[in-house]
Amino acid sequence: MKYKELPMIIDLRSDTVTKPTEGMLQAIIKAPTGDDVYKEDPTVNKLEHRFAEMFGMDTALFFPTGSMSNQAAIKLHTQPGDQLICDKWAHVYNYEAGGVAFNSGVTCNLIDGHRGMMTASAIEKGISPISNYHTPNTTLVCLENTTNKGGGACYDFEEFKKVRNLCDHYGLGLHLDGARLMNALIAKKEDPNNYGKIFDTISVCLSKGLGTPLGTILLGNNDLMSRAIRVRKILGGAMRQAGFMAAAGLYALDHHVERLSEDHQKASEIAHTLQKLPYIKKVEPTETNIVIFNLIDEISNDRFIKDMLHKNLQISDMGQGKLRMVTHLDYTPEMHRIVLDVLANYEY
Ligand SMILES: *Cc1c(COP(=O)(O)O)cnc(C)c1O
Repeated sequence: MKYKELPMIIDLRSDTVTKPTEGMLQAIIKAPTGDDVYKEDPTVNKLEHRFAEMFGMDTALFFPTGSMSNQAAIKLHTQPGDQLICDKWAHVYNYEAGGVAFNSGVTCNLIDGHRGMMTASAIEKGISPISNYHTPNTTLVCLENTTNKGGGACYDFEEFKKVRNLCDHYGLGLHLDGARLMNALIAKKEDPNNYGKIFDTISVCLSKGLGTPLGTILLGNNDLMSRAIRVRKILGGAMRQAGFMAAAGLYALDHHVERLSEDHQKASEIAHTLQKLPYIKKVEPTETNIVIFNLIDEISNDRFIKDMLHKNLQISDMGQGKLRMVTHLDYTPEMHRIVLDVLANYEY
């Protein structure tokens, strides 16, 4: 078959596997830079300013990774011994190496949500009663949009408003892990400014669908964010000529946001193909660029992953029987045709 002759590896494990495009490389090379530890890098300052404007928030701060940005936000909102509320699938709980406990001395009250999303009423049930000094003090709610383990699901904006009211009522901080927030903005045609009005802090990754080599922006208002630069320093995230990477971020804002709809389209086509196949037990609804599916019991995930690898297709295992494919900038229409063909013709 044709795909077997192609040496090309199709990597759908994550949207983080992309390489900078030629245009992005040019932007990186030409970036004016300075020492960002002195806040003298004009390109970092420009990127931070642009994000703050976009979200209508006071401050944006450039971080090397999304985990560090989330961890810094959690530190800003909590004291050791506090508890945060997040979905049982949340990245901050599952994929940040226990940093919540390590960095902030905080426990997580895990909510059994729907596809990584929590309702305001479920969150309310998870808040510790203030009158009870035996229980950990709930101080923060962390939401994720789009959800990673939930298969790129997007919240309904009305739910955010309810959660905001709840947080106001109980005096809780509200953080958004928006690693793939741009995907949600495009899929739901939402305005980032509305997010700035709801959340106290927002973390947005540049290295996922936006295709930069690294970088995440943490947004917030001055009251909280005045301490963020110190927390970033403590976590080891103060960088010098970071403008080279900020330039990639600026380039991505100009060139890689609108095109996310192409990734969404391809993901939806993969999901559609999978749904019809006899070896598939379940495919999660696919709203953005992540396809999560389960195989029928007769096939093990390990075997399927190996079989796909033999056909030069890389996918990931998300645990609990879930397999994941993520579409991205480097996933071409040609690769897409091959993938649909490999999946449709898989013999188990
Ligand atoms: C990728 C991701 C992050 C950040 O991960 P890093 O690899 O540290 O940049 C945070 N939250 C979610 C939901 C993610 O998918």
